[in-house]
Amino acid sequence: MTGVQLVLRSTRVVTPEGTRAASVGVADGRITEVGPHDAPVPAGAQLVDAGDDAVLPGLVDTHVHVNDPGRSHWEGFATATRAAAAGGITTLVDMPLNSLPPTTTVGHLRTKQQSARPQVYVDTGFWGGAVPDNVADLRPLHEAGVFGFKCFLSPSGVEEFPRLGPDELKSALTEIAGFGGLLIVHAEDPAHLDAAPQRGGPAYADFLASRPRAAENDAIDRLIALARELDARVHVLHLSSCDALPALARARREGVALTVETCPHFLTLCAEEVPDGATEFKCCPPIRERANQDALWQGLAEGVVDCVVSDHSPCTADLKDGDFGTAWGGISSLQLGLPAVWSAARERGHTLDDVVRWMSAGPARLAGLDGRKGAVAPGHDADFAVLAPERTFTVDPAGLHHRNPVTAYAGSTLHGVVRSTWLRGERIAEDGRPLRQSGRLIERDGRTVRSEPPGEPDRTAPPR
Ligand SMILES: [Zn+2]
Repeated sequence: MTGVQLVLRSTRVVTPEGTRAASVGVADGRITEVGPHDAPVPAGAQLVDAGDDAVLPGLVDTHVHVNDPGRSHWEGFATATRAAAAGGITTLVDMPLNSLPPTTTVGHLRTKQQSARPQVYVDTGFWGGAVPDNVADLRPLHEAGVFGFKCFLSPSGVEEFPRLGPDELKSALTEIAGFGGLLIVHAEDPAHLDAAPQRGGPAYADFLASRPRAAENDAIDRLIALARELDARVHVLHLSSCDALPALARARREGVALTVETCPHFLTLCAEEVPDGATEFKCCPPIRERANQDALWQGLAEGVVDCVVSDHSPCTADLKDGDFGTAWGGISSLQLGLPAVWSAARERGHTLDDVVRWMSAGPARLAGLDGRKGAVAPGHDADFAVLAPERTFTVDPAGLHHRNPVTAYAGSTLHGVVRSTWLRGERIAEDGRPLRQSGRLIERDGRTVRSEPPGEPDRTAPPR
């Protein structure tokens, strides 16, 4: 281990080849070596011995609504990335909507980057948005480094980010496939939603009936057909309906360039247990029945679902008003995703290696950051989450760094305490306390954003 500045040692290092006792050497922010546990520590290097705590690659969360600027009273880059750091996440990719402006032009992207730059505790990238009038903006956004493009097939919830109709979807996907980009899709069919009973009110069963599985199933069937026809890369966001799994599995077997994510809340919470009026559990598509959840776990185990990402979509407490018809739809879980998923995964016989595959390596691959993020392996950024997997804690919303302490997990006892989080070899959080704003703005290929908005001094560390 020559030139090594830091050695992180543990009896449980989660590597792509499995979990083993190892010493991880770090130089200039990158992992240089994953050697034997008892490897001698080079002169001048700092040794951090994590004991029996597990060393995971830092989590990559590709589905986060930061809402900054414009709705930063819902969430902002400082609060979101503090929560991320405290929760073991070292890279997040921000969704293009709920901020004002939405990320639908290069100018809007620059506005968002300018807002984010002085605030971030973890590495932060951006999805672009595909809306009905911006086909001409897609390629420039791609060239400016967005990770891909999000669109909605049903209303998004905010008027400045309209859904795509069938013809608009085809135009956008044709354009995106033309430059080898990725379309990520909120797949619910608006015709099914219009036809479903929209009762509103406090009863969760009424809300569930208003977002039927058929809306997801049909939208996904049409997406598969279009991806096949256009030979395009498509990612299904926040899969909730397990009924869509067989079609997704078949399409993947046939070579359609399709990836799929689901979310902690679909894997850990179920409709039977949502109290009436508890609109902190409202999200779209919705949390469904326990049997549906069992099937989603099966889909993960079989590899039909690639990743588990938060879909952290917060709002102020007053917008969670107890009426499922009018409350904002979105679940806050950025800081809690790892313990929530790990708690359920261990009960189902899964390992930390599985959790890392779903929450770090999988999202890194989706974002094109594999090779740089998502693995404890030589050449990767020295991004780590040190986790005490057997320790438990009870969720106290006051201990969360999210701007608004509203969470569906309040009072839950979860397994897995994040002891510390490391970004490029630097400790950025310890025992739930964020320590430093060492995050960089990143682009699709993993490069640091270099271009400066006019008149803005660079407040991040220089790119290497
Ligand atoms: Zn979302």
